[in-house]
Amino acid sequence: MNSIFLGLLIGFLIFQLAIFSTTLYLHRQLTHKAVSFRPIVNEVFRFVIWTTSGIRPRQWVAVHRKHHAHTDTMEDPHSPKVLGWKRVQLMNVFLYRKVAKDGKTVSNYARDLPQRISDRLFYDHAILGLGFLFAGLAIWFGIITAIVAFTFHSLLYLGLSGSVNSVAHHFGRQSFKTNSGTNVIWLAILTAGEGLHNHHHAAPTSARFSRRWYQIDPGWWAIKVMAFLKLANVRHSDVDKLASRTSQIRNLLRN
Ligand SMILES: [Zn+2]
Ligand SMILES: [Zn+2]
Repeated sequence: MNSIFLGLLIGFLIFQLAIFSTTLYLHRQLTHKAVSFRPIVNEVFRFVIWTTSGIRPRQWVAVHRKHHAHTDTMEDPHSPKVLGWKRVQLMNVFLYRKVAKDGKTVSNYARDLPQRISDRLFYDHAILGLGFLFAGLAIWFGIITAIVAFTFHSLLYLGLSGSVNSVAHHFGRQSFKTNSGTNVIWLAILTAGEGLHNHHHAAPTSARFSRRWYQIDPGWWAIKVMAFLKLANVRHSDVDKLASRTSQIRNLLRN
């Protein structure tokens, strides 16, 4: 096979691995506690996140919890309402880094995720993780394929993670008018369900982002398979029930 085409194919597969680990592990489990996985599964996710993105989970969790707590206000780390959707799309990685580097935000919003010894030794060193992936690709498939795969994966991961924060707060449909998130089908297909962002903001603690069986939520399908294999334990999964409970609580707090 042509080494560039092979690189694109491998890059796309690595991107999917990274995005599934992001939505299942960083988002649905660590941030919102909507699901829990067996310890061995968590370690696999941890390793995949390290080698494919270099993200520190406690930083990602803190930035995302802050986004939920202050959506569309000046405190929101990446609000299209405040900054404009194009700026959030293009600057997402910088907006993320600015808040992630703030130790106070991380200790306030992710105090349940202290730094572990393995973090200090390995996982907090992004270059080491990403270098491990790149070296593995180069040894296995050759340097050209490795460069193409790594670049393609990085562009997809950074670009589409940005789209969840920009496009899915600006374009698309809304089932719930209680939040500014939107549902964008093509984005949900590419991001393992993250594009169903309106449902997610309405019911953040739901492990399932879809409301109907025909709605595209590959992350939820993966959780169902893992639950069947006794690798995952779902806490909540009914978007409608959780959404009405959440809006009742909001109304009580407002009155
Ligand atoms: Zn959002
Ligand atoms: Zn969330």
